[in-house]
Amino acid sequence: MTDALPAKGVPGEQILAELREMRGADLPTHGGRLFAYVYDPALDGLDDLARAAHATSDHVNGLDPTAFPSLLAMENALVAAAARLLGGGSETVGSVTSGGTESLILAVKAARDSRPDITRPRLVVPSTAHAAFAKAAHYLRVELDTVPVRDLRADPQAMAAAITPETVLMAVSAPSYAHGVVDPIPELAAIAAAHNIRFHVDACFGGWILPYLRRLASSPTPGLPDFDLSVPGVTSISVDLHKYAYAPKGVSILLHASEELRRSQYFAYAGWPGYTMVNPVISSTRSGGPIAAAYATLRSIGDEGYLDLAATTRSAVTTLAAAVETTDGVRLFAPAETSVVCLTTDDGVDLFVLVDELAARGWHTQPQMAFADLPPTIHLTVTAAVRATVPAFATDLAEAVATTRAQGPIELPPLPPLTPEMITPDLIAALAASLGLRTSTNGAGAAGGSNKAGGDFGRMAAVNSVLNAAPPMLREALLAGFLSLLQRP
Ligand SMILES: *Cc1c(COP(=O)(O)O)cnc(C)c1O
Repeated sequence: MTDALPAKGVPGEQILAELREMRGADLPTHGGRLFAYVYDPALDGLDDLARAAHATSDHVNGLDPTAFPSLLAMENALVAAAARLLGGGSETVGSVTSGGTESLILAVKAARDSRPDITRPRLVVPSTAHAAFAKAAHYLRVELDTVPVRDLRADPQAMAAAITPETVLMAVSAPSYAHGVVDPIPELAAIAAAHNIRFHVDACFGGWILPYLRRLASSPTPGLPDFDLSVPGVTSISVDLHKYAYAPKGVSILLHASEELRRSQYFAYAGWPGYTMVNPVISSTRSGGPIAAAYATLRSIGDEGYLDLAATTRSAVTTLAAAVETTDGVRLFAPAETSVVCLTTDDGVDLFVLVDELAARGWHTQPQMAFADLPPTIHLTVTAAVRATVPAFATDLAEAVATTRAQGPIELPPLPPLTPEMITPDLIAALAASLGLRTSTNGAGAAGGSNKAGGDFGRMAAVNSVLNAAPPMLREALLAGFLSLLQRP
């Protein structure tokens, strides 16, 4: 590991060479071979532009927009663009946040704090809602009511039945991250309105492509219902610019249907001797860099550019879905109606071995563990860059499935029955060793752990099979323990 604080400063050229070497251990952010984490429009020159824009504002501080009106202007422009794209009206307001999780935490906070009369506030979501809602509920001490879905979509009847007098918010997805399907938002929003509770649409993942996909569809497709602020009852919506707006990481937008709805999102404090703090978002000091980069990205691509990118993405999704459907041993698990292809394997094809076999061929997919009555699946986030790689993927998929079938299912070493309380650092280290997992990273790569197949962590099928068999609370404890093992200087 290199020293972040050498006794004597090191020349810039050397530092950049070190950084490039460390980056060499990462999965590829460009080229359409990584189906999660990254969003690549494959547009020449866009990275350079975003980088230059970032550099103009990286030392600007979003803490005080009166000191840095450039940032206020850029934020207002981004919010206005999002409002226009997502059915906002003249009353729509919003905030620029650092990411989807922050947008969702703030949507939950705004709902909670709008109801000071409720002492034990509750949030209703379908079981397919993003994990960030569970995090928001945990951080904010709001009770989370998770409602089973029907055919992977929120079930309006069951959602209505879950509303209590303490419910402050109902939240659903457009589309869901895991399966890429859109919840029946007009029906659900009407239910929330009838109960006089707020209704949030989590369009963090697909909010910047869904309007274009709907525009491309020659007739309204049953899978793509109205989903935005134009739907009666929708009080807020979130969209990540660092996903399908193709901006560099660190920018999301939370829109509210009116200023009154946004008020309880703000935090202001004058009870100390320093400056009066007024924060619309969680961070106080924050860089203008990501905001300037997002502004440049939107202006460079433009509305017509996003429509073209959606068409390219759509074509990649259709071709990928066809490849899955025509390959013996795998099948689509969810309808490929947006920008996700979610597949599963037939008997005799071990899904986690298949993930490794794909990784060995340079395709990095995201395994999703079994949950409730759902089997494990493979998630592919499809972006415009994928279209060029689809033919090669189709060939490799067929080959990888054949190899996987020939290998047979993974055989696990005998494991003791574990409970979350038993998870200690020593146990994690021993378990990792017995599963052939490296835990010394030497500065390489991130954790998360479950899809680094073929990367620095070696083959992952054994680890993923153990995690898949573990109940959710044990899985959480195992992965937290593993991450903690990695995060040591
Ligand atoms: C990515 C995502 C989030 C969380 O966003 P981050 O930017 O990772 O914090 C929330 N909801 C959905 C549907 C997402 O896809």
